[in-house]
Amino acid sequence: MTATTRPSAEPSAGPHILGIDIGGTKLAVGVSSPSGQLLATDRIPTNPAESSEQTLARLIDACRAVIAKAAVPVAAAGIGCVGPLDQKTGYVISPVNIPGWRRVPLVDTIRAGLKIPVFLDNDANAAALGEHRFGAGRGVRNMIYMTISTGIGGGIIVDDRLYQGENGNAGEMGHMCVRFDGRRCPCGNIGCVEAYASGTAIAARAREAVDADRAAAGASLLKLAAGDPSGITAKLVVEAVRRGGDPLAQRIWDETINALGSGLVSVIHIFNPRRIVLGGGVTNAGDLLFEPLRRYVSKYAVKMLADVCDIVRAGLGDQVGVMGAVAVGLDGYARSLMG
Ligand SMILES: [Zn+2]
Repeated sequence: MTATTRPSAEPSAGPHILGIDIGGTKLAVGVSSPSGQLLATDRIPTNPAESSEQTLARLIDACRAVIAKAAVPVAAAGIGCVGPLDQKTGYVISPVNIPGWRRVPLVDTIRAGLKIPVFLDNDANAAALGEHRFGAGRGVRNMIYMTISTGIGGGIIVDDRLYQGENGNAGEMGHMCVRFDGRRCPCGNIGCVEAYASGTAIAARAREAVDADRAAAGASLLKLAAGDPSGITAKLVVEAVRRGGDPLAQRIWDETINALGSGLVSVIHIFNPRRIVLGGGVTNAGDLLFEPLRRYVSKYAVKMLADVCDIVRAGLGDQVGVMGAVAVGLDGYARSLMG
């Protein structure tokens, strides 16, 4: 759904919010109306050679420009940022994909630059809030969000509120163990969902399978990768499955579904959600992903819980970063008004 097709009702019911999306390779900013319509947006590339001070100065300039372009009073800013971060102090600790950022006072710097209240959360929680307020989770009281891309993250909405956990780190659904004797995960644990079903893990498992048995190697998968196993990606695995006739690609994909499905079954049993919203690049597989996942869940989850839970694709698409940050700002602003 694009900004132009989103309903723009209730023009004055609530504040306009600035959203700031800080990822590893780009910074995106946007001003949203109270109903979630983006009035102005901008993107600036990150520069690994820059200090964090220089990057934040450019970011503040971009924020000022986008607020001027939207030409509305902005009540607060929300930031969705790659972690780890300390939400209480507003510091970003040392995100692995932003070299040079070490204990950056993100919230204080942006607040001093823009003179408005600023609220911070990690990118996965921000996306969960964004999907809940503006996307595929609208009107749903209990919702789980998972993003399945190079890694797997998530956020938990309970009774219309983001569940933060003891120190703001709840929702690490990628690190649910689905095989206690399984593959090593980048987090150090064993058998995590992420070790099987992230885009990175799907590609790695497919490459290993091809290397282990060249004779049985999926003909269409290898052909799609121009005969070079190192060129195999999750996207090509999905494409080989879509074309059919490649048992190796099908086996890798089935294992992906089983890992994700067993993780979702646990989530359903713990939280009894109304909806699970899945986003991230791997969900571009569409029905190839969602149909077998739904079958897995209806087969293995307790019926009373499975019956009330639907599993759907995220609704915000490329806007999830900025709209998630907007939702963080709205949420923080509303809480600040309540004292
Ligand atoms: Zn893990």
